[in-house]
Amino acid sequence: MQVPFWDERIETASRGDLEALQLERLKKVVDSAFKTPFYKKRLAKAGMSSSDDIKSLEDLKKIPFTTKDDLRKSFPKGLLACDMDEVNRIHSSSGTTGIPTVIYFSGEDVDTWTDLVARCVVCTGASKKDVFQNMMTYGLFTGGLGLHYGAEKAGMTVIPVSSGNTLRQVQIMQDFQTSVVHATPSYMLHIRTVLDENDISLKQLNLQKAFIGAEPHSENVRKKIEELYNIDAYNSYGLSEMNGPGLAFECVHKAGMHFWEDGYIVEIVDPETDENLEDGEPGEVIVTNLIRHATPLMRYRTRDLASILPGQCECGRTHRRLSRIKGRTDDMLIINGVNVFPSQIEEVIMKIPEVGTNYQICLDKQGALDRLTVQVEIYSKMFTGSAGELENLRHRIVEKLKGTITIKPLVKLHEPGFLPVYEGKAKRVIDERPKDEQ
Ligand SMILES: [Zn+2]
Repeated sequence: MQVPFWDERIETASRGDLEALQLERLKKVVDSAFKTPFYKKRLAKAGMSSSDDIKSLEDLKKIPFTTKDDLRKSFPKGLLACDMDEVNRIHSSSGTTGIPTVIYFSGEDVDTWTDLVARCVVCTGASKKDVFQNMMTYGLFTGGLGLHYGAEKAGMTVIPVSSGNTLRQVQIMQDFQTSVVHATPSYMLHIRTVLDENDISLKQLNLQKAFIGAEPHSENVRKKIEELYNIDAYNSYGLSEMNGPGLAFECVHKAGMHFWEDGYIVEIVDPETDENLEDGEPGEVIVTNLIRHATPLMRYRTRDLASILPGQCECGRTHRRLSRIKGRTDDMLIINGVNVFPSQIEEVIMKIPEVGTNYQICLDKQGALDRLTVQVEIYSKMFTGSAGELENLRHRIVEKLKGTITIKPLVKLHEPGFLPVYEGKAKRVIDERPKDEQ
């Protein structure tokens, strides 16, 4: 397989060269951090007085972790390292669940970010020959604009549709013969159902690739998307605190996501003890941004759980690869005392051929006990068979889930279209248990 590169020299740099560059950039980021009220205080408390305290990459550990809560408490300007007239763009969380967080970008910050996103796009084999339909939400959320600029820089023909209005999306896919799309995995699954409902065949489209991200998903969901559309789907990892998309991306080999180590330092730590873990060991992803100076962010606790895949990728890139995100430290459900990640449930049900493209995990109380109900949409042809067949399928799903999560759930089967559809990030878990009892 011919391997495409955006910046071959840096993408195949030796470990020594990469680490030398990381150290040089880390010192500059520490300089910027000292210009912010937040880090000035935080770093002084850790016994640091300037970037001279960083003599090797090992010294990164002198820097305390930064959390989402730190970002909230620093709102609006506690983490701003420059004058506002140097700020070129603002991205912010919506703040619907509390105080918002804000990230400021200088012009140079936007450029370096864009360059990394272009690198992501190109490593999947996408090029200026492609028509790229960006179905991720544009706005304060970074998913839309982040990919937009990177894809444009890579020379693709970009259609900035944003999310929603599925019939219009499908029409545009036909009109312009879109070859690459960017969407959440749940939205990709939903569009396929809409194609069927409107008798639009895959032959009327020219779809070849999908970039899927913004929500953790299992390998079985990727396979399902690839089979349903007969395309290649590439996993994308990013978070708005770390610019947005472009943190890590799968290359043509689809064997883990290359973490761009000239732009970011990745660490995996045990979320309980905060000890650094070896490659291959799963833990919380901690990221230091080496390329953003208007809002420096070091050793940021992403709360995402993953591991660094040991070994080299066949593509020749030297940047280490991140595994699929297994879940978040804060999305683990405790159900009658048993720890369950929603991703475990998804992994099981998406492997069952009769299961369609949408599901939901519901929790409530039945007396003193927690009750887990898994609502699953199945293909409509299943409803034309006998009641016995349906009951067999339901029983099979219950047993498979019980085998993995050790809890016996209630399983309800529905026809396609029964469950709510999300055009952005899907809300898969509905937890109606009283908060104080959890
Ligand atoms: Zn690779």
